[in-house]
Amino acid sequence: MADQVLLIRGGTVVDETGERPGDVLVTGGRITAVGAGLEVPAGATVLDASDCLVAPGLVDLHTHLRQPGQEEAETVETGARAAALGGYTAVVAMPNTDPPIDSAAVASQVLELGRGAVCQVAVAGAITVGRAGARLAPLGELAALGVRLFTDDGAGVQDSGLMRRAFEYAGGLGVTLAQHCEDNSLACGGHMHEGEWSSRLGVPGIPAAAEEVMVARDIALVRLTGAPVHFLHLSTSGSVALVAAARAEGLPVTAEVAPHHLSLTHAELAGYDPLFKVNPPLRTAGDVEALRQGCRAGVVDAVATDHAPHPQEAKDAPLDQAPPGLLGLQTAWPVTLAALTDVGMTPAGVLALLSWQPARIAGLHPDQGGEQGGPVVAGAAANLCVLDPGATWTVEPDRLASLSRNTPWAGRTLTGAVRHTVYRGEPVVTDGEARR
Ligand SMILES: [Zn+2]
Repeated sequence: MADQVLLIRGGTVVDETGERPGDVLVTGGRITAVGAGLEVPAGATVLDASDCLVAPGLVDLHTHLRQPGQEEAETVETGARAAALGGYTAVVAMPNTDPPIDSAAVASQVLELGRGAVCQVAVAGAITVGRAGARLAPLGELAALGVRLFTDDGAGVQDSGLMRRAFEYAGGLGVTLAQHCEDNSLACGGHMHEGEWSSRLGVPGIPAAAEEVMVARDIALVRLTGAPVHFLHLSTSGSVALVAAARAEGLPVTAEVAPHHLSLTHAELAGYDPLFKVNPPLRTAGDVEALRQGCRAGVVDAVATDHAPHPQEAKDAPLDQAPPGLLGLQTAWPVTLAALTDVGMTPAGVLALLSWQPARIAGLHPDQGGEQGGPVVAGAAANLCVLDPGATWTVEPDRLASLSRNTPWAGRTLTGAVRHTVYRGEPVVTDGEARR
């Protein structure tokens, strides 16, 4: 309802300008007042925010919505609902659908589906036709639809010459290439991290080098072309070191990590459980620590879910046959909060990685003409989340909004819950329940 009036009362407002106690009044889709002790207007819906942080909605740079092509695993509608329940008001849909998002026609189809969803759905376009790594996709045509990020996610672009041309093309268009860093000749045939546990279990491994050689190559191509790169789901300490060095050099490099890589190690595979099979794989405790320190030091810009739903029967297959990937949208905030408060980060610092910094990488921040991740001030679009950092809850896969059940957190108790999510002024989640 465009004329709906909401008062979010009694919380602490947190955004990139800092934090202060305050109520937030929302009218007709926009924030109309922020301050302590605001009066309740007649007919207003009051959302209780006591003991909560009131922040710009979270923005996920890396969501697999599976539509078109794999609607039994997830749809734009169900994935967006999972996102809203996780505190997200925007997601970037990855292009490894069937058909892939490598043309204006498919991008338009997903954007159209997104218009009816309970959060903003931006799309990433493929770098190459069919994500096959042989010919460049029509990046200009996709950029004209508002696509800001391009990736062949699920695969890295193997051909360095082609990747150079992609950088040159993208630089001219003012869009960003996002790389899934994986050298196929090193990773091929692996099902988990190559190390102590893969040896013990007798499972073929994926070495850290499979990721790091592509990070290093792309940094060299950024230096050559001047075009920016965003690194998806970095998982190794070596990758963090490469990004830190590139940033120190002043190169336009950004990076994301996933909540599971901040909190789980390859030891989870001890029981050969395909729930913990993910690409890039869960790595060592040393890698987990390096990723956490990378977040704390500002080398890592964003935490992105890599929400990857799979039907039950696919994940019931043996480890070597099951597809990689796990659910992330509804658990990202508490999992990230726990991992990063462990290295001394504040909730505001954690929100920077989940909201305004990814909003900028996606081109969705108000500074860029968007409506995501901006300061909570009068006049701004009302895309907000209300987060209770102290609430605990136990993850029950059957109660998740996703059509799939492949969460690695099943049965675990997490601290940090989403109380409300407001999208374009509408309370799409209230008291932890989705409105529709
Ligand atoms: Zn990927």
